[in-house]
Amino acid sequence: MRINERVVALNDKPVNSNARYVLYWMQMFKRVDNNHALIWAIRKANELKVPLVVYEGLKYYYPWASDRIHTFILEGVEEKRAEFERLGIRYIFYLQKDAASAKNTVAALAKDAALIVTDDFPCFIIPEHNRRIAERAEIAVHAVDSNGIVPMSKFDKEEYAAYTIRPKIKKLLDRYLVPLANETVEHSSIDLDIDTDFETLVTSDNIPDLVAECDIDHSVPASTVYHGGTVKGRERLKLFITDILCNYDKARSKPDQDGSSRLSSYLHFGFLSPLEIALAIRDADAPQESIDAYLEELIVRRELSYNMTRFNDKYDSLAALPDWVHKTMRKHAADERQFTYSLEQLERGETHDELWNAAQREMVVTGEMHNYVRMLWGKNVIAWTPTYEIAFETLVHLNNKYCLDGRNPNSYAGILWCFGKHDRPWMEREVFGQIRYMTSGSTGKKFDSKKYIAWTKMLKI
Ligand SMILES: Cc1cc2nc3c(=O)[nH]c(=O)nc-3n(C[C@H](O)[C@H](O)[C@H](O)COP(=O)(O)OP(=O)(O)OC[C@H]3O[C@@H](n4cnc5c(N)ncnc54)[C@H](O)[C@@H]3O)c2cc1C
Repeated sequence: MRINERVVALNDKPVNSNARYVLYWMQMFKRVDNNHALIWAIRKANELKVPLVVYEGLKYYYPWASDRIHTFILEGVEEKRAEFERLGIRYIFYLQKDAASAKNTVAALAKDAALIVTDDFPCFIIPEHNRRIAERAEIAVHAVDSNGIVPMSKFDKEEYAAYTIRPKIKKLLDRYLVPLANETVEHSSIDLDIDTDFETLVTSDNIPDLVAECDIDHSVPASTVYHGGTVKGRERLKLFITDILCNYDKARSKPDQDGSSRLSSYLHFGFLSPLEIALAIRDADAPQESIDAYLEELIVRRELSYNMTRFNDKYDSLAALPDWVHKTMRKHAADERQFTYSLEQLERGETHDELWNAAQREMVVTGEMHNYVRMLWGKNVIAWTPTYEIAFETLVHLNNKYCLDGRNPNSYAGILWCFGKHDRPWMEREVFGQIRYMTSGSTGKKFDSKKYIAWTKMLKI
């Protein structure tokens, strides 16, 4: 049941009026500022005259769990603990290392809670988490949308493309692109006696040891380029605004330059809110073309992706594609592929195409891939795998395994875009049919591809 444009009640269970606190289960919006879920939890706690407890857990068995993803998340824990303490809010973090570690920690904390507030993130493992907790808990569960500038509920169906969602967003923007005030708790939970045997103390020094103890994929190392947390995200935002934004409209398509924000991983894990970034960019001293170009990506394109995963439950498959794509794929399914590569060859970046290998290497080593080559990267996998289904699965696997910003609505929308999602039919050709085609030859002429390739060769794990 919808409570307001950002809040949904996930069950019809009662609020426990004899409880000791409100529990905010922080899953995706890992921040203190500009967090609608936290604000809702604070309001509920104040209304019920009880303190607020914030819980964040990191389990070992979610798909693609690795040193890289774990480290990035853990790097944001210590600063949150300090921030929450300053706000009079007890923050409990738990790293579940393996099958022998404590389980059902949310349910355990929920026993003393009046209600659970959590994050409404429209893809990957979160919808299932929320469905399960709403079923299992004996109290009310509220899910809050702090994903984008415009609440996802402002759209009642899947949008066809950027041109259909753009005018709707534009109409609503004045109302939502405004600062959001933080709220404060009236009752501190810092000294609350809570049974938290399972709690994990994370400091900047013990992260490598903690990660090494987890039963996760240790073959994907922590990024040496991107470090997690709101502080690091804000440092990058500041650098982007002072040194890069003024030329963003041109430089964003040049992988050989540091020309884009590189904020997608901070957005994915919620270390930074899109609202904070959008307001800072809107008010920056930069040419209007660059500001507009950036806000188009951050708001229109990003919120189109969230809209897709919210309304299309097939977002993790080719079934999410429109009819014209299915028709053209049926016609070209048997076309001969000039080159085919196995997952292992692709993963190691061993193709005949130097630019593609460079993009793959950037992703494997740093944890991100530049937007411009990311499109080419996806398109080429369609050309080099035996079927469209294998191409899709390969792309999802590699993107989500290596990219810090993977497992996000943008991941699925970006990969599906390579197959024609949110796009239109183009001139028909082999294998691609009417799906837009890109080649390394022509793409590589639009920037200094030799410089980009040379840079990736110098990258070291
Ligand atoms: C095959 C493929 C896979 C992709 N996988 C991901 C992914 O896993 N995670 C991810 O966040 N993005 C993904 N994208 C979209 C886009 O490539 C990245 O968002 C972008 O490269 C992030 O870099 P940036 O922060 O420097 O972007 P900037 O150019 O600085 O843009 C600012 C922000 O706008 C949003 N944005 C930018 N481009 C897009 C886009 N095309 N669609 C939706 N939102 C956009 C991002 O949140 C980004 O951080 C994918 C695109 C393709 C073609």
